[in-house]
Amino acid sequence: MNSSADVVVLGAGIVGAACAHECASRGLRTLIVDAGIVGGGATAAGMGHIVVMDDSPMQMALTRYSQELWRRLACALPPNVEFETCGTLWVAADEEEMGAVREKHDLYASVGVKSEVLDAQALAEAEPKLRRPLPGALLVSSDAVLYPPCAAGFLVRDAMRMGARLLAPRKVLSAGHGRVRLAEGDEVHAARIVNALGADAVAILPELLIRKRKGHLVVTDRYPGFIRHQLVELGYLRSAHSIAIDSVAFNVQPRQTGQLLVGSSREYSAPGGAVNDTTINRVLLSAMVARAQQYLPEIAGLQAIRVWTGIRAATPDKLPLIGPWPKDESLYLATGHEGLGITTSLATAKLVVAAMLGEPPEIPAEPYLPARFLETNAAGNLSIADAPERTHA
Ligand SMILES: Cc1cc2nc3c(=O)[nH]c(=O)nc-3n(C[C@H](O)[C@H](O)[C@H](O)COP(=O)(O)OP(=O)(O)OC[C@H]3O[C@@H](n4cnc5c(N)ncnc54)[C@H](O)[C@@H]3O)c2cc1C
Repeated sequence: MNSSADVVVLGAGIVGAACAHECASRGLRTLIVDAGIVGGGATAAGMGHIVVMDDSPMQMALTRYSQELWRRLACALPPNVEFETCGTLWVAADEEEMGAVREKHDLYASVGVKSEVLDAQALAEAEPKLRRPLPGALLVSSDAVLYPPCAAGFLVRDAMRMGARLLAPRKVLSAGHGRVRLAEGDEVHAARIVNALGADAVAILPELLIRKRKGHLVVTDRYPGFIRHQLVELGYLRSAHSIAIDSVAFNVQPRQTGQLLVGSSREYSAPGGAVNDTTINRVLLSAMVARAQQYLPEIAGLQAIRVWTGIRAATPDKLPLIGPWPKDESLYLATGHEGLGITTSLATAKLVVAAMLGEPPEIPAEPYLPARFLETNAAGNLSIADAPERTHA
């Protein structure tokens, strides 16, 4: 088969699905290629917390913009996407963390995100199953949750309704300079190619600074009303987003089905490894569940029905790679979203398509451009610059 399109989107995870949806909605002849099933990669493993995250101003801008895009799309989403604006409670463990709650409140207010500081009593009323005493929490009511694989499925189906085509299962062997080579010898030609292969983006572009970072989730049986909000420990960014170490944090989500999703863990796979190590790390899993029990003691009595892992695509500066790849004028990147790809998928798609069409983006695109990792070397060629690793407070 030899085929052509205006855009070929590689990968039908939530990010590729969003990119294909945006391309198709702008009238571009779009082909989506995936080696597996739609939303079957990290997207199927994700929690689906649509959250404004304040790790850095750039991350906050992207998550906030994308959450707004999800809100605009919400009324079009079918029931199986289970979109629900349940809000996030950032739970403080001690008085020192209550100080951080107030700082977080002010930071969110400075960018127009409403939040509310709950004292110990208000927190106990909002979430009676939390251990007592706890000093309080920050309630961010506009945060939402959804079921990621069905969200990806919806975006791909809707893109197809607008004329996009899906080629799956079909593995991409290489892509660049307007040409995509597929397994079994087929080729697709397109002026623009979007690499949205998640953590496997490196398989066809090995120089990308992406590391695989594994996460575990536990899903319980149905316990309707056990909790009402996504519950996250305030130290989440500190403990779970540290660049260097494997870590766990209290992060539990109520699903519409009455089930609870219990997370979270972060663990680096071997650097640059092509093999995805999805085995369950029992030590980290036990630590993750123990952490959840510290905050929600009764969780120990609930029935877990499944545990799984997923592979996140982590970049050195904890921001995704979104936009043109300067070494190949046909190639655009939409990868490196680590733990926020469900949230930021829709914003990613907007930024990629704005770059393709030469339109001004709705938020500044510079912080996410892949070019930030490139420099011109002595021979005048573009090469990967030293990684600007960021550490976190
Ligand atoms: C435990 C866990 C919890 C998470 N929780 C959240 C959360 O609450 N909120 C949030 O925003 N994010 C969360 N994330 C992160 C989120 O899941 C990811 O950032 C997101 O799913 C990445 O989507 P993607 O489309 O880039 O990648 P993927 O979903 O991995 O999609 C990549 C696709 O490319 C395909 N592919 C790979 N190689 C090839 C090839 N050679 N040829 C063809 N196709 C190929 C795969 O089959 C796959 O379908 C979580 C992640 C994990 C692991």
